[in-house]
Amino acid sequence: MKAFPILGLALGLTLAGCMSTTTTVVGPDYAAASGLPRATMVRVSTSGEPAKQLFGPVKSASAQAPESFGGFSKGCLAGAAQLPETGPTWQAMRLSRNRNWGHPALIDFLERLSAKAARQPGWAGIYIGDMSQPRGGPMSSGHASHQIGLDADIWMLPPARLNLTATERENLSSISMRRAEGAYVNEKWTRQHMEVIKAAASDPAVARIFVFPGAKVQMCKDATGDRSWLRKVRPWWGHHYHFHVRLACPAGDRSCVDQAPPPPGDGCKDAEGWVDRILNPPPPDPNARPVPPKPPITLADLPSQCASVLGAR
Ligand SMILES: [Zn+2]
Repeated sequence: MKAFPILGLALGLTLAGCMSTTTTVVGPDYAAASGLPRATMVRVSTSGEPAKQLFGPVKSASAQAPESFGGFSKGCLAGAAQLPETGPTWQAMRLSRNRNWGHPALIDFLERLSAKAARQPGWAGIYIGDMSQPRGGPMSSGHASHQIGLDADIWMLPPARLNLTATERENLSSISMRRAEGAYVNEKWTRQHMEVIKAAASDPAVARIFVFPGAKVQMCKDATGDRSWLRKVRPWWGHHYHFHVRLACPAGDRSCVDQAPPPPGDGCKDAEGWVDRILNPPPPDPNARPVPPKPPITLADLPSQCASVLGAR
């Protein structure tokens, strides 16, 4: 019974917090009362609320000039454009997530890439997974990045047709390309996958592509002629059901923060290192300390323009 007055106090502080910018941290009792895991600490207040809870529910873009603010994993997007759900050479998947939004530069890129993919045997175009939320920002689930309208996931499943219904787009699954935890590609991987990724990497708007290590190593083996496009293709965890394309900040978006460019060279040695660590994992470091979970990103953590993006019509 003793816990109740304390919980009441915490809630009272929380409500009072709505009037100010005070951040109230409430503990396990509040978490339990909220149906959250008991160990969760919850920050509640106008300024301290996780930004994903503010950006996640917004259904439409801001009526502002298009601009990306901040970095790929800490930012937002003004004046987003919505990728049409179906185009001549693409379909957006999982429409219920409402993540087919991006900077107009991303929409343009996806149109270009899909037209090139459609020239590959067996590819009617591309199936496009998550892009950004209508105003960018941290996502309600999944993805640390995808926040400024310049990231898009492209499915590895070659589209056989582009007339999937909305229900089919909820239920159809992509296919994995990996074998041995990502050290190698599996038998589903084709030359066409490389050609589509090469087309994406060769586009001047693209800064980076993330794909599982075995795919990068395979492309390093198979690429002939100009290999400079391989530099942009970087090994990463996951990314065997889709590859992830990241555009560079569009010219003129002065508050958009680019990632440092990939190191010079084709990155093939680096990819072999990833594969080697998959096949021969180093022994666990006995001195490793558990990494404390990062607190959720709040509106105050984002570039100051993001408050007006959120508040705009
Ligand atoms: Zn992604």
